[in-house]
Amino acid sequence: MAAEAVSVLITGANRGLGLEMVRQMVKGPGTVAKLFACCRDPDGPKAKDLQTLAVKYPNIIRIVRMDVSDLNSIKAGVQHVASVVEKKGLNLLINNAGILSKSTLCDCTPEDMQNVFNTNVIGPMNIIKEFLPLLHSAAKASKMSGMSCKKAAVVNISSGLGSMGLVKDTYGVFPAVSYRVSKAGLNMLALCAAAELKSNEILFSLLHPGWVRTDMGGEEGEIDASESVAGMLSVMATLTEKQSGDFFDYKGEVVPW
Ligand code: NDP
Repeated sequence: MAAEAVSVLITGANRGLGLEMVRQMVKGPGTVAKLFACCRDPDGPKAKDLQTLAVKYPNIIRIVRMDVSDLNSIKAGVQHVASVVEKKGLNLLINNAGILSKSTLCDCTPEDMQNVFNTNVIGPMNIIKEFLPLLHSAAKASKMSGMSCKKAAVVNISSGLGSMGLVKDTYGVFPAVSYRVSKAGLNMLALCAAAELKSNEILFSLLHPGWVRTDMGGEEGEIDASESVAGMLSVMATLTEKQSGDFFDYKGEVVPW
């Protein structure tokens, strides 16, 4: 990642891709000064691996309780992060937490659509809005010109299933209507944010992690979390203002809208 120390926040950091991001970022090569690893139940059994990592890297990792579908929980997270980073702000925010529902159009209920939207779209929207002051501070405090993940950026973990261009090829294999609609919504959200906040030098990006063997991706996934995350971190390191609002996969290839 970056050559200079940065602060990073990751949602859904207790398992899957989020946990692997924490693992790889703290290992180095030594550029993350503070890593806010967010999860909804820091004391629960699903956060054990994250707790173990936090004990190993006490100066870097801060575990923050955050349910992305709950605005009050996000606001409390902002307070916590602000008290640590102060005027330096937050350099990189990764909207990673997400849920998947495998419904077809005929199975999909309003409750299912609402539930998936709450986590996958409204959550990232609230997080971007609430953390904006800290991202602004980071952009202002940075001596670098242009945009980058070292300066002030929001990376949104999207999915190829949110690609309209790929629906005809993939729908038969994997319908997941509410999930697809939510990730397409997340893509538009990030594009709007990129356009609205361009003059503030905050970079917005969308990444497809590949089909990964996590709880969500299942055992038949094509790659391990370690390969996906290594790829995504490499892509993040290359992003500049020229790529703000673009949609890439973990290999750096453009994903069609
Ligand atoms: P997992 O199901 O393995 O992990 C999901 C993470 O999101 C968990 O940490 C979970 O926390 C967290 N989470 C879910 N809901 C909330 C919430 N309301 N508040 C806070 N945290 C929440 O998924 P992956 O790691 O595989 O996926 C990570 C991201 O990558 C997701 O956005 C997903 O859509 C995307 N993605 C994954 C692919 C894959 O093949 N795996 C493919 C394409 C995209 P908890 O333990 O509390 O449930």
